[in-house]
Amino acid sequence: MDDTAPFIFDGHNDLLSKLWRAGSMAALDEVSTGRDGAIDAIKARAGGFGGGFFAVWVPSPAAMDLEALFELMRQPSYDIALPDPVECEDALPVVLGQMAVLFALERKGVVRVCRSVADIRAARAQGVMAAILHMEGAEAIDVDLHALDVFHAAGLRSLGPVWSRSTMYGHGVPFRYPSGPDIGTGLTDHGLRLVRRCDELGIMVDLSHLNEAGFWDVARHSTKPLVATHSNAHALCTHSRNLTDGQLAAIRDSDGMVGLNFAVSFLREDGRKIADTPVETMLRHLDHLLDGLGEDRVGLGSDYDGAMVPEALDDVSTLPILRRAMRDHGYGEDLIEKICHGNWLRLLARTWGTEDPGRDQQQGERE
Ligand code: ZN
Repeated sequence: MDDTAPFIFDGHNDLLSKLWRAGSMAALDEVSTGRDGAIDAIKARAGGFGGGFFAVWVPSPAAMDLEALFELMRQPSYDIALPDPVECEDALPVVLGQMAVLFALERKGVVRVCRSVADIRAARAQGVMAAILHMEGAEAIDVDLHALDVFHAAGLRSLGPVWSRSTMYGHGVPFRYPSGPDIGTGLTDHGLRLVRRCDELGIMVDLSHLNEAGFWDVARHSTKPLVATHSNAHALCTHSRNLTDGQLAAIRDSDGMVGLNFAVSFLREDGRKIADTPVETMLRHLDHLLDGLGEDRVGLGSDYDGAMVPEALDDVSTLPILRRAMRDHGYGEDLIEKICHGNWLRLLARTWGTEDPGRDQQQGERE
């Protein structure tokens, strides 16, 4: 059995903001030659990681004491105040800087920036990581949405109106455990316009950091499948970032999708940020997501290079362990293929309105 297949196409990683923070050409080179982190080309080949959504994310300027924050998240319960909003003029250079990192990686031949499912298939054929340009938080987009048009032209195909921290478009869900996601008001009128414009342009709207009110605002106003790129089941981990069974039902009814987040805080029943977390915990969430959504609407959304994950799955070279765990858990090869990449590719074809040229060929291969 080939443990590096089927290839994994993943709903979320934070490699771009990590590289942008490192701020050096050497850090970019290391994506080809090997780096101290979860994602690089060498680890990707070893683990059968075919790419996914690469997030652009603006950190808050007030230096957060990360150690103090992590210590807080190791406690039995926590409620972390959201940082202050970031102004458009402050967010824009950061977003441009991280987009430039992505295009530099493309020039180096490490990733291919994908605007269609055909592009993703082509990246696989080339043996490079397929990258969807995703924006986590819409701070850099002006109220007239001109920047949205420009970002779309540059390749943006997925957008979260908020990264938890409030924007002029909406209010996100704070990091709170235990807690339901129904915290605060949802999208503003500007946010509703943003969602409609994303639908027109073919930019997927990501629900993962919205609070429950915002989730239902998108559900009412978007004509597209509902998608949470990196969230888990609230029934198993009562973290504010996770999805209730009611939300899962709405996602199912819209023929949308959820990517399983590997972050231990959103996996563990006790919500604590502890790397010593068994892979089995992820299988329980997958079972619940499959129950609520059906086999065609569950994928992966690792949060690699952005979150603490179970220690056995520390970087993308370890993904064969996850495939093996799914096989040992009794998932059939068809289902594993859907979870690894098939469902994401079909969802993107539905959302973007671009055909997947690989499907006939794939079915042909199977017959
Ligand atoms: Zn996130």
